[in-house]
Amino acid sequence: MDTSNIILVGPPGAGKGTQAIMLREKLDALYISTGDLFRSHLSNETDLGKEAQKYMSAGELVPDALTINMLSQELEKKADDHGFILDGFPRNVVQADALSELLDRKDLSIDLVLFFNVPNDELVRRLSTRYTCKVCQAPQNINESEGNATPKCNLCEGELYQRSDDAPESIKRRLDVYDEETKPILNYYEEQNLLTEINSVGSVEEVFTRVEGALQ
Ligand code: ADP
Ligand code: ZN
Repeated sequence: MDTSNIILVGPPGAGKGTQAIMLREKLDALYISTGDLFRSHLSNETDLGKEAQKYMSAGELVPDALTINMLSQELEKKADDHGFILDGFPRNVVQADALSELLDRKDLSIDLVLFFNVPNDELVRRLSTRYTCKVCQAPQNINESEGNATPKCNLCEGELYQRSDDAPESIKRRLDVYDEETKPILNYYEEQNLLTEINSVGSVEEVFTRVEGALQ
């Protein structure tokens, strides 16, 4: 499976990021998360980071030209004998077309698109209790009931923070953007016979078992 090229798609809050971290440990592939890349540009205060922030905090997509350019540079890091995992890209049909062209030129192709599916009410609940590790970027859910001790990352003990786009107004907008812009790429990949749906309700381990099943 080491040379597989995999795309992860799902609404915000579907647990894509958590599963991506586990998948990345299992497969020796280049992992690219456009969300993580934008956040790292942001914390390094690059021009791209400042530009992207305007859209991210509002729950909008960063313009395609910027996103596609960043992705294509990152893909250059891929070694010949390793695959890639794309997390959060493509997010609309324009990006999906751009990716196909980019891969064609490199004589590469997509092997599998995993669609993480979760009902909407569950998504809202998950996103509003979601915190993100400042160090390793792992997402995790913190309940008020768990006490007011400063929460730490359960993977690396790093400090956790709430992303500005996990504020209630942005959550609503991100879910709408997902419905309008991202959902159409499910059909796009379904027509190419690449799509596998993963029921993402259940524990992290249960969902990962389904992911492993889809890789067989
Ligand atoms: P989520 O956890 O909501 O799936 P991500 O971490 O993948 O979020 O992305 C956070 C934000 O970064 C998005 O809401 C969007 O503003 C921006 N972003 C990430 N990937 C893309 C993309 N492929 N195209 C446009 N904007 C993107
Ligand atoms: Zn961490």
